[in-house]
Amino acid sequence: MKDTFKHKGLREQLVKTVASKGITDENILNAIRKIPRHLFMDSGFLDHAYQDKAFPIAADQTISQPYTVAFQTELLNIEKESKILEIGTGSGYQTAVLCELGTKVYSIERQQELFKKTSNFLPKLGYRPKKLIFGDGYKGLPEEAPFDGIIVTAGAPFVPNPLLSQLKIGGRLVIPVGADVQTMTLIIRKGPKEFEKQEFGDFRFVPLLEDKN
Ligand code: SAH
Repeated sequence: MKDTFKHKGLREQLVKTVASKGITDENILNAIRKIPRHLFMDSGFLDHAYQDKAFPIAADQTISQPYTVAFQTELLNIEKESKILEIGTGSGYQTAVLCELGTKVYSIERQQELFKKTSNFLPKLGYRPKKLIFGDGYKGLPEEAPFDGIIVTAGAPFVPNPLLSQLKIGGRLVIPVGADVQTMTLIIRKGPKEFEKQEFGDFRFVPLLEDKN
C-alpha cells in the first residue's frame, strides 16, 4: 500500500477540480487531499484514481465520483461527533471522508464481498467507523437510531420510510432519487411528522437494490 509524492500531487489537482465545481467546505477538501483514493480501487485502475470520475470496483459496483462524494457530504452539514448512517459502503471512500470529518459513522453494505473487503481495508488506513454492517439499507439501522444525518450512496427508486423515521429532529437525509437518472434530494426533519424537501439536480448512481426475499 504505497502513497507517493506523485499521488499527493495528483490529489492536489483533484482538490482544485472539485473546488472549481463549487465545493467550498475546507474540511471536505482537506479530506480529499488526504485520503489515498488509489488504494480504494483495483490496481488496474490506478491511473484513473485521481480523475474526477466514478470507477468500477468489485461486485459490479462503483466508487463514487469525488465531486459527488463532496457534494453529498456538504449537504449533510456535518458537525464533529455527528452520528451518521451511510447506505452503500462500497469501496469505503465516502466512509473514509466521513471519518476524516470526525463523525461517528455507521455504514451498511448488501454485497458480502464488498462488506468483507472494506471491513478489512479501512482499519489498515487507520479509519475506524463505529460499525460496518452487512445488510439491507432500505431498513436503515433502527437499533442505533436516531441519526444526525443519513447519506444514501446508491440510486433509490423511492425514499424508504425507515430512513425518514430514523432521523433526529433537525436531521438531514441526502438521497439520490430516481430510476435511470437520480435527483439529488435533501430531506430535513422539522418535527415528528414534518419534513422539508429540497432538490439539487441530476446525478447517476448504481441502483439501491431491494432484497427479493
Ligand atoms: N459509498 C461508496 C459508493 C458505492 S456504490 C463509495 O464511496 O465507494 C453503492 C453501493 O451501494 C454499492 O456498493 C452497492 O452494493 C450498495 N447497495 C446497493 N443496494 C444496497 C442496499 N439495499 N443496502 C445496502 N447497500 C446497497
